Amino acid sequence: MSKIKVAELFYSIQGEGRYMGVPSVFLRTFGCNFKCAGFGMPRGKLSREVEDIASRVHYYNKYEELPLVSTGCDSYASWDPRFKDLSPMLESDAIVDRIMQILPNGQWQDEHLVITGGEPLLGWQRAYQDLLDHPSMQSLKEITFETNGTQELSEDFKNYLVEWQAKLKDREVTFSVSAKLPVSGESWEEAIRPDIVCRYQDVGHTYLKFVVANGEDVNDALQAVQEYRSAGFTGSVYLMPVGGVENVYNMNNRTVATLAMKHGLRYSDRLQVPLFKNEWGT
Ligand code: SF4
Repeated sequence: MSKIKVAELFYSIQGEGRYMGVPSVFLRTFGCNFKCAGFGMPRGKLSREVEDIASRVHYYNKYEELPLVSTGCDSYASWDPRFKDLSPMLESDAIVDRIMQILPNGQWQDEHLVITGGEPLLGWQRAYQDLLDHPSMQSLKEITFETNGTQELSEDFKNYLVEWQAKLKDREVTFSVSAKLPVSGESWEEAIRPDIVCRYQDVGHTYLKFVVANGEDVNDALQAVQEYRSAGFTGSVYLMPVGGVENVYNMNNRTVATLAMKHGLRYSDRLQVPLFKNEWGT
């Protein structure tokens, strides 16, 4: 039976993108190919906020005890190897048991499954098939992969997802692609991969979601959109404010909403910040 290294598994409301407001189970897998230490920092500077937390890692026994950060990646413990012991390797049966426990009626109804990270397409594509084939998962209809858009889908997984959707009416797979702009601190060449993202469109509904703080970031987003469109990307584009903590989010959300309107792009909130202060497990 396949195993997945699970950073978090919780039930909440989807706060971002196409399914904003939908009750959702979040499966956060461990591992990412990026660090995104530039978020919330002046251009060219990288956050070191997590270094202090990592130096005290043995004080923390579970995710809920970890501090929130206002700069860098807000889900740092889901990929930083220094926090790896907080994320157990779980067999798909154990993951499904836990999902059934946290669903309000002990079975899938109108809830949707979010497979997030870290970067969820990095290493677990084979294991997701075992998970979704479990008898208790058969009434699930909607899945979103929250990806940074740099990981190819294997042929096997592509075929599997196409067949999974065909098996039941109204089933749909979505790729919510949060492509990383220079504001993240990652390089353009590695982060903006229209060739890969366009192939997600062969499998499911695919949209782009750019995390931005100001007009300079939005200009980067517009340039990236041009590259995606030239490669054949046809989906929607969202702008979402930087801000994993409330004060940063509050500084940015109105500016970003205004910039989204100005450029005819969609605005995505991050409802988990005003509703739940973006605490772990929300
Ligand atoms: S891609 Fe996502 S999970 Fe990975 S470091 Fe960047 S923000 Fe964090």
